[in-house]
Amino acid sequence: MYILSGLTLDEIEKITDELHASKFRARQIHNWIYLKSVSSIDEMTDLSVKFREELKKIAVVTNIKIKVKQTSSDGTLKYLLEFPDGECVETVLMRFDNRANLTACVSSQVGCAVNCSFCATGKRGFIRNLTYKEIIEQVLTIQRDTGLKVTNIVFMGQGEPLLNLDNVLKAMKIFNENFQIGARRITVSTAGIIPKIKELANTEMQSTLAISLHAPNHEIRKQIMPVENKYPLPELKQALKNYIDKTGRRITVEYLLIKDLNDTLESAKQLVQYLHDLKCNINLIPYNPTAKNDYQRPSNNSIMRFKSLLEQSGKKVTVRLERGSDIDAACGQLSGKAQGTV
Ligand code: SAH
Ligand code: SF4
Repeated sequence: MYILSGLTLDEIEKITDELHASKFRARQIHNWIYLKSVSSIDEMTDLSVKFREELKKIAVVTNIKIKVKQTSSDGTLKYLLEFPDGECVETVLMRFDNRANLTACVSSQVGCAVNCSFCATGKRGFIRNLTYKEIIEQVLTIQRDTGLKVTNIVFMGQGEPLLNLDNVLKAMKIFNENFQIGARRITVSTAGIIPKIKELANTEMQSTLAISLHAPNHEIRKQIMPVENKYPLPELKQALKNYIDKTGRRITVEYLLIKDLNDTLESAKQLVQYLHDLKCNINLIPYNPTAKNDYQRPSNNSIMRFKSLLEQSGKKVTVRLERGSDIDAACGQLSGKAQGTV
């Protein structure tokens, strides 16, 4: 059986050829999948009933199931999606009242091998990579379910996207060409896999790179992110500089704020020093509680104090709005809990 979701126009043409139909039929099917987000072949009403019956014998729209759907009081939606092999990932749709943007936060892996101490996903360990089709299916599922068009994509769900770079790049290309979501509206967030940052710098894809820095020095970083042992801060900085030089693009530095651990005056000073010659914006992420550790979120006052210390260095600093924490959909809270794995 062919799964139509995720196929390019060329691939759909091979199916219509098999059915001895014209290329125009392929274009119609492509529109139904990507622009009108249908769930079944029967909904493709500009195809004749006879052709739909033929198509149904060899193809289905999707084989992914919505296992659980939760709605937050702030409008954020979280889906637990199940693939045919029984593995599940979570995908989040964020809407912001004052903006037209609809941002999908997609997963790139089932679980994650990087094992950051503050993250619920890491606690599951690594299970498997998602295929590029499984990545784009997440966005299609949201579109089918809500009837809305996703405008922005962030690779900030479960998994480390740069450890599944081939599939992430293929998915980005399809988001670009088939969903008409510009590369600049796609953000890839990484814990700092240096060789893959270099590889990404050499691709054509002009997406935004976000780097999860989270600590201003080696000691604190290795305590919360084991990846620091393999890819330490000084080399990371070289890779980021190279990325900025090659692409000409400003990067986003994500900095998780954990009370009394990395939210001090000293940390702010060291962070300013580390970033002083990097073309970047800073996004502060106040820690969201996960069940498996006893870190705390700093008070609003200390978040604002930390922010203004950074701003004095002339950088643009934002504090990430917390979305969906009442349904464990906020950053770092995606663990598959609704599935009973945690
Ligand atoms: N693996 C990638 C992308 C997924 S995580 C990465 O680590 O960058 C997306 C963001 O959520 C990262 O910046 C991550 O560090 C952050 N995050 C993880 N756990 C969190 C938590 N408990 N509270 C707030 N942010 C968290
Ligand atoms: Fe993996 Fe990112 Fe979670 Fe770290 S923060 S464990 S890299 S998903």
